[in-house]
Amino acid sequence: MKYIEPHAHMVSRTTDDYQHMALAGCAAVCEPAFWAGFDRSSAAGFHDYFCQLTEHEPKRAAKFGLQHFCWLCINSKEAEDVKLAEEVIALIPKFLHCPNVLGIGEIGLNKNSRNELRVLEMQVELAAEHDQLILVHTPHLEDKLKGTRLILDVLKNDPRIQPERVIIDHVEEHTVELVLNCGMWAGMTLYPETKCTPARAIDILETYGSEKIWMNSACDWGVSDPLAVPKTALEMKKRGHLAAAIGKIIFENPKKFLRQSPNFKLGV
Ligand SMILES: [Zn+2]
Repeated sequence: MKYIEPHAHMVSRTTDDYQHMALAGCAAVCEPAFWAGFDRSSAAGFHDYFCQLTEHEPKRAAKFGLQHFCWLCINSKEAEDVKLAEEVIALIPKFLHCPNVLGIGEIGLNKNSRNELRVLEMQVELAAEHDQLILVHTPHLEDKLKGTRLILDVLKNDPRIQPERVIIDHVEEHTVELVLNCGMWAGMTLYPETKCTPARAIDILETYGSEKIWMNSACDWGVSDPLAVPKTALEMKKRGHLAAAIGKIIFENPKKFLRQSPNFKLGV
């Protein structure tokens, strides 16, 4: 079955992962800029990471027949240092011309701190100024609902931001409706340990419908599964979902959102 992986941190994954994804039917993988598992010590570290995302990783993916796209930003986990964030944000415009860049992301909040919020506002401004799509990371566990509300307020307060050009990721049962009601897209992250399990994600689809929703693995350097999307598609099939309904969630929906970026062109 053909699918798009809309959120995966492939710089942390092996060539075996690429091969397994290609065998499972992955047509394209999209990689938001994120935390490396440790704090980078300078803006130069981000510059190198942006080069990796725009130059090196697309070539590595292409060896397995996969198209690779990316998103650029400074993530919320490293946004406590506003001065560093300013330096990193100043680097981004020149990378926006790279052919695989889809927009600004994954921006958002981690601990919902004042500095994180300030850096979020700066990056929403960057996206508005350069007419870019936005991909948002929402905090985990007890911080998620409050963080999601804060993020939605920032986005709704800027009249230049069109809600259908924003995806709020890592939604769960208590935040999905809030996001969809704003006219934004919602991403469900499938994790073996934390976040949504396949069963919970399918329950959410059966409750809230399949408009403006996608699923992703968000696989990174931690315990995560790069095949979470096709595995959940199989689980949907077992529950009696028809092929067309599964294809909408794992291929048509991400394609519909992502092609709002002129850089998202599928070769298949
Ligand atoms: Zn991520």
